[in-house]
Amino acid sequence: MSEPVISVSALGRRFGTTTALDAVSLSLPRGAVYGLVGANGAGKTTLIKHLLGLLRAESGSVRIFGLDPVADPVGVLSRIGYVSEENDLPGWMRVDELVRYSRAFYPAWDDAHATMLLRDFALDPTVKVATLSKGQKARLGLVCALAYRPELLVLDEPSSGLDPIVRRDILRAVIRTIADEGRTVFFSSHLLDEVEAVADHVTMIQHGRIILSAPLAEIKTTFGGASLAEIFVSRMGMGALSSTGA
Ligand code: ATP
Repeated sequence: MSEPVISVSALGRRFGTTTALDAVSLSLPRGAVYGLVGANGAGKTTLIKHLLGLLRAESGSVRIFGLDPVADPVGVLSRIGYVSEENDLPGWMRVDELVRYSRAFYPAWDDAHATMLLRDFALDPTVKVATLSKGQKARLGLVCALAYRPELLVLDEPSSGLDPIVRRDILRAVIRTIADEGRTVFFSSHLLDEVEAVADHVTMIQHGRIILSAPLAEIKTTFGGASLAEIFVSRMGMGALSSTGA
């Protein structure tokens, strides 16, 4: 069996007196879509920051493609596409300038793919990034993350605050295509129905602890075909659901 794309072992992280991650362990093979669900403050972004090497493990370990993302950021980040909730793009650049700028960082950049994505997402290359809507910025963030065909796509709350059409673009067209090409997607979300629609494997996190991590089909069988929202409530309580937007 091939090496897991993401391997996290007994990862712990505290911020002052808050335990953000508590002995988190995950081993995720390549070529699937992994949905990470949890209420506000559960630890999703903190976990993702460790995967990207933006935070160093206080205890435990993180390996991406078998590499330590803190010790070898270039080796890891050149193979990861990342789109965050904040999607911090430089507003003063034009869309085509940002694409050219991003291209310079990635030897595997695929111009034809970038052009096709810009067209599919109806983005005008000549406009300033600052004038784009939130949904258009989300699409542009995806173009920059996808055009070098990363082996692993990491999305932190990719659809939060976006309209349903953009969410459909992200979750259906983009995510499924990547998995069908044998690459891996790891995305966090509050939107349980969308996770259910697209994920092969679901990980639930609460107060920094993984409380469930299994293939979606297995979870559905175990819980008698209940929806992910119902399962979430049964594992985490009603209070958690109110902060998931479900
Ligand atoms: P959300 O869905 O609201 O984005 P999340 O699941 O991504 O939440 P995290 O952002 O990982 O949650 O936060 C986990 C916990 O760690 C929270 O209690 C948060 O307040 C705390 N935390 C995260 N980053 C910091 C920081 N830089 N300083 C202090 N506390 C932090």
